[in-house]
Amino acid sequence: MGDRVVTTVSCTVCKNKNYYFARGKKKEKKVELKKFCEACGKHTPHKETK
Ligand SMILES: [Zn+2]
Repeated sequence: MGDRVVTTVSCTVCKNKNYYFARGKKKEKKVELKKFCEACGKHTPHKETK
């Protein structure tokens, strides 16, 4: 507990939460990633959620 945050990355098209990753708290900025979404069946932009 404390220094790690689990970030959820969700598809911006269908809002499916497809990816999770842990990272340090230091980087506060939101990232946008091109990831494969199974629900959409293609690569879509994914954004961090809380
Ligand atoms: Zn999707």
